[in-house]
Amino acid sequence: MSETELLTGKLLFEFRTIEAMVNIYCKAHHPMKPSHSVCEQCSEFLSYANIRLDRCPYGQEKPTCNKCPVHCYKPHMKQKAREIMLFAGPRMLLPHPIMAIKHLLAERKPAPGLPPEGVSNRHERKRQMS
Ligand code: SF4
Ligand SMILES: [Zn+2]
Repeated sequence: MSETELLTGKLLFEFRTIEAMVNIYCKAHHPMKPSHSVCEQCSEFLSYANIRLDRCPYGQEKPTCNKCPVHCYKPHMKQKAREIMLFAGPRMLLPHPIMAIKHLLAERKPAPGLPPEGVSNRHERKRQMS
């Protein structure tokens, strides 16, 4: 199963948004790589973000990670996410206007409470398979 096949709905849309931001960031910061791909380091970040989305305990009701009380990212990945968002966020509007606007709106939502049990994408997938 490929990375994106794990995710559905809002989580898949969020992954596509992160992917678009990583592409913008990698193109500017790591130009020595084959065109139309991201470097190994950024690809590793994308795989990590994909797993976090799959396991996010809020499932489809996931808030923006910035305001999350759980903070599941490892510190160096959180730092990388921050760098990518800071650089690519303002550069998203022209190439990806819908993603950019949805991202901005999500950032303005208030911080959520702690997540309920068993609603992650991973839990949902297991339920559907059993
Ligand atoms: S930081 Fe919070 S919102 Fe983001 S993936 Fe982790 S648990 Fe979910
Ligand atoms: Zn890169």
